[in-house]
Amino acid sequence: MDKMETRSTCCYCGVGCGVLIESESGRITGVRGDPEHPANFGRLCGKGLSLAASAASDSGRALFPEMRQDRGEPRRRVAWDEALDAAADRFADIIRRHGPDAVAFYASGQLLTEDYYLFNKLAKGVAGTNNIDTNSRLCMSSAVTAYKMAFGADGPPTCYEDLESAGCVLFAGSNMAYAHPVLFRRLEDARRDWPDARWIVVDPRRTDTAAMADLHLQIQPGTDVALFHGMLHHLIWERLIDAGYIAAHTEGFDALKRMVRDYTPKMAAEICGVRAEDIVTAAEWFGRSPASLSLYCMGLNQSSQGTAKNLALINLHLATGQIGRPGAGPFSLTGQPNAMGGREVGGMATMLAAHRDIANPDHRREVAAHWGVPESRLSSRPGLPAVAMFEALARGEIKAVWIVCTNPAHSLPDLAMARQALSRAELVVVQDAFAETDTTAFADILLPAASWGEKEGTVTNSERRVSRVRAAAPPPGEARPDGWIAAEFGRRLAARLHPDEADHFAYADARQVFDEHRALTVGRDLDMGGLDYALLEARGPQQWPLFAGQAEGQARRYVDGVFATDDGKARFHAIDYRPPADKISAHYPFRLITGRLRDQWHGMSRTGRVPSLFSHSPEPELRMHPEDAERRNLRDGDLVRVASKRGQWVLPLKTDGDLTRGCVFAAMHWSRQFLNSGGSNEATASAVDGLSFQPELKHAAVKVEKAELP
Ligand code: SF4
Repeated sequence: MDKMETRSTCCYCGVGCGVLIESESGRITGVRGDPEHPANFGRLCGKGLSLAASAASDSGRALFPEMRQDRGEPRRRVAWDEALDAAADRFADIIRRHGPDAVAFYASGQLLTEDYYLFNKLAKGVAGTNNIDTNSRLCMSSAVTAYKMAFGADGPPTCYEDLESAGCVLFAGSNMAYAHPVLFRRLEDARRDWPDARWIVVDPRRTDTAAMADLHLQIQPGTDVALFHGMLHHLIWERLIDAGYIAAHTEGFDALKRMVRDYTPKMAAEICGVRAEDIVTAAEWFGRSPASLSLYCMGLNQSSQGTAKNLALINLHLATGQIGRPGAGPFSLTGQPNAMGGREVGGMATMLAAHRDIANPDHRREVAAHWGVPESRLSSRPGLPAVAMFEALARGEIKAVWIVCTNPAHSLPDLAMARQALSRAELVVVQDAFAETDTTAFADILLPAASWGEKEGTVTNSERRVSRVRAAAPPPGEARPDGWIAAEFGRRLAARLHPDEADHFAYADARQVFDEHRALTVGRDLDMGGLDYALLEARGPQQWPLFAGQAEGQARRYVDGVFATDDGKARFHAIDYRPPADKISAHYPFRLITGRLRDQWHGMSRTGRVPSLFSHSPEPELRMHPEDAERRNLRDGDLVRVASKRGQWVLPLKTDGDLTRGCVFAAMHWSRQFLNSGGSNEATASAVDGLSFQPELKHAAVKVEKAELP
């Protein structure tokens, strides 16, 4: 028996834990934590430990390309050439008849960087449209926008080692104990060595993370901006700001100071529904600590004020000089394993490769030259971000969509709209490892993709660390790596649209794709001139920037107080608090909060295959405060119908005193694949942040009624 051990990276969250995959005769038989990986030093959470179990079976996998001529017909098995030629014919025909913006690509933060790069090149460089967006839009685009607005460039200034040297940790909208468990363990270890360290948790729910806090600010959903402004008001009033840092390294403080004059802790407390003295305590701890670190995630990002929430938190760091040194800084945690890699390659409708901007003609010229395509091919018109893309599909303005490695019929807000979009499209191509998701049901062409443990490339985790992902087993059936599919389709589409051009997809392997990508980063803030596969092989995972000739990347950014803006100064932003878009009313009196379970991932395509991962939370539940339940004569186990203006779904009720009254909570994992009536996104709203275009998945006005059994 040929036993092997392959070094790779976990495919779930943005912690990016290293794993050692054991395989035998071409099958994955075990997974353990990589003791040498600097993210986890051998640790794994329950999801990571179950990777071998989820990889063990071919059942449920998409094994062969399938296609149908007409809606209503079942798909039939076809050869790869037939499927790819048909897709290229249809895309080319639609582009010729309606223009490039009549097609769209919808990708995923779970793609490897190399795959992401190829799809971006295919959409922007070959099809000529910026209509390529990703499920990362639903996850962290508010953090991207805020980093760019405040610092002049995307990416966190911090690193995981900062967890060990922070005297005050402010968790905002992050149930880190569930969503980033291995990092949370690192923090717990650090706290044992530094018992005076203070933890502040900002969350409308008393989560497992909040239960560990020294101070839990149980705010009303969506009120974070008022809270952070209230803290800043106190910091200014008590002279806990760093006037020297503000003067030397920032712009815009005076306007912010004028605005937060009104946000007294008392006023902020009224908006947030917490005690003014707790806001004062939080500000004191944050301002007086030798090093304050904030860790934030979906609770800030998934909001119609997502960018403002991020910026208000960053304001606190800039005003106190809590940035650019060990243990200090605003640290946005990425949800998905390669959300950061997607940002690097510009895999979104609003950006170009290597942190370049679509609106900048010099940036378009540089990218076009690198790709060997005419400059005029790169459109100056921003593409449509996720929600707008599906709304355009629903209106018939976009005719064809290519969906890769994601499940929008489960994960988008307002699922009735998403289903209408997919029904209305002339052509839906779905590239997925799994045959039966809520989205594959709409596929005219289904392309079987290799999954984790079956393909080669890289991912970048939350601290900008690039790790290798390696194949330990061949894909089942005729499944192919995502990058192979992108290149084969891209070559065919280019041959139809631009027959005189050279082959844009002539790569021997993933390493060549990565080299083309990193060459574009040279001279940019994310410079990876020295970060190649050989270095990763020799010295393990590395952070960017990592310049040519260097052997190690930069752990922290902006340590000299020089930011990536034109004048090197960071920017304060003064944005007033605004309540969530979906207003509660007598008809829809509850605030629905959605979130994650400890042991499940996204739509459960993978984790749903492992029975042991259901032991922590075996079934869907709507959580409601006991007093709210009693007033409605509802009891544990009752089936309830949760309805918003947009849609409804049915699930059992569970009372939960850890919720604020007036709020209900549902995990976002359950889909039609598992629950006939669908999941929480039947009710969520498609309202988006006006700067980042990230939808407000964390707040919807709903009513809850007892459901009659059929
Ligand atoms: Fe995987 Fe995240 Fe768990 Fe690490 S913490 S094992 S990356 S799911």
